[in-house]
Amino acid sequence: MEEKLIKDYSSPGRTAYSLPELDVEKRDLNSELGGYLREDLDLPEVSEVDVVRHYTALSELNYGVDSGIYPLGSCTMKYNPKRNEKLARIPGLSYLHPYQDEDQVQGSLEILYDLKLDLAEISEMDEITLQPASGAHGEFTSLMIVRRYFEARDENRKNVIVPDSAHGTNPATAKMAGYNVIEIASNQRGMVDLAALKEAVDENTAALMLTNPNTLGIFEEDILKITEIVHEVGALVYYDGANMNAIMGYAKPGDMDFDLMHFNLHKTFSTPHGGGGPGSGPVGVKDFLAPYLPKPLLKKGKDKYYWDYERENSITKVHSFYGNYGVMLRAWAYIKTVGGSGLKKTTENAVLNANYLKARLREEFELPYAEESLHEFVLSGSRQKEKGVSTLHIAKRLLDYDQYAPTIYFPLVVKEAIMIEPTETENIATLNRFVETLLKISREIKEDPELVKNAPHNTSVRRLDETQAARNPDLRW
Ligand SMILES: *Cc1c(COP(=O)(O)O)cnc(C)c1O
Repeated sequence: MEEKLIKDYSSPGRTAYSLPELDVEKRDLNSELGGYLREDLDLPEVSEVDVVRHYTALSELNYGVDSGIYPLGSCTMKYNPKRNEKLARIPGLSYLHPYQDEDQVQGSLEILYDLKLDLAEISEMDEITLQPASGAHGEFTSLMIVRRYFEARDENRKNVIVPDSAHGTNPATAKMAGYNVIEIASNQRGMVDLAALKEAVDENTAALMLTNPNTLGIFEEDILKITEIVHEVGALVYYDGANMNAIMGYAKPGDMDFDLMHFNLHKTFSTPHGGGGPGSGPVGVKDFLAPYLPKPLLKKGKDKYYWDYERENSITKVHSFYGNYGVMLRAWAYIKTVGGSGLKKTTENAVLNANYLKARLREEFELPYAEESLHEFVLSGSRQKEKGVSTLHIAKRLLDYDQYAPTIYFPLVVKEAIMIEPTETENIATLNRFVETLLKISREIKEDPELVKNAPHNTSVRRLDETQAARNPDLRW
């Protein structure tokens, strides 16, 4: 499994190309143009086969959703049909230039407009911008809209409320948008504590940021009371819609009285994610917030689609041009392919898969919140921890069995958290294999804890210093 650096395959004089013999006068560009060529460049000298084998070997060290289950709770990549990849690469679509005249791209604008209508229907929001490039970017755009809304009303509200089970991007966004973050504790059932919420809201509250189901996978049964409590003080309620596969076709944020929200097209609607993008985080709002959406806004006129720039209350642009078009294409193709009943089925399968795993794993692993859950659930490795083996070790040991690990140590409200989201993608055989592997690891912990504590044993690299790579990346070899 070891793979050397490309330089280590180098042999003087070896090349990956062969050019025809020179049949024109040879010129020395370096002396003519003045020292452009560097003599001291120590480049690898390798053959074509060396290059192909090296990079193929590297690609095989990688684990992805095309290799096996990827049960990374909350941020999971859902189903990514390959045919949508193909569609996004159709030259007539992928070679469009954003400076092209509107009249030349009416077909593409129609696709985007159609996507807006579909997202509005899925969410029960009135108007949509497709500009933001990620979930976090959609959150940020939403909070800029919240800010603008209160500015227009001459109100200067300072606080944004975030439950303690929230995705980390929520408090980060609130802070970046210039708000104080007020964290409220969840109750014993893993839901928003209504008393704590009432205590936290006042005329200084700008918004509550909430996802439903929350990151424990639990649906807030008092959602209408929650939105009412926030609205009573004149504040807005924002919905984190990163993981719509928990509710699509069954519940809509607009019906739960949310005022605005973001979607992650690169989670729920087909585009692969990870490795930094590209993504797309459209924002949907109720009518009264539409004037503040970024510009330009895609509109349908009498006989053509057009970008509306005449928007004096807009928060202005949040992305160059119109956003990440290729991602929107995939989302549109996905929604059109499966249709309304297919989206509903997606939700059913995502929820069924998660509940199957939960039912099979809860005997062996502690389930801190026993409430019914939807597309994901959170176990605790605290029993295993008593044997000196932590959740991190369990996650590493899973890699030895050639399966990816769930999200760990999040949400923060669960000790030794193991957050599992199988998604709608996986079949029963894959789910069973995942369960049996986790049960096997649990047995190993009882019989030979050191084996698990020193995992992984079978991967190309073993224990990495994960924070070092994130905090001090050395991107130059
Ligand atoms: C993934 C996720 C986000 C952030 O989305 P990015 O595209 O990664 O910025 C926000 N909230 C929740 C609940 C998520 O799962």
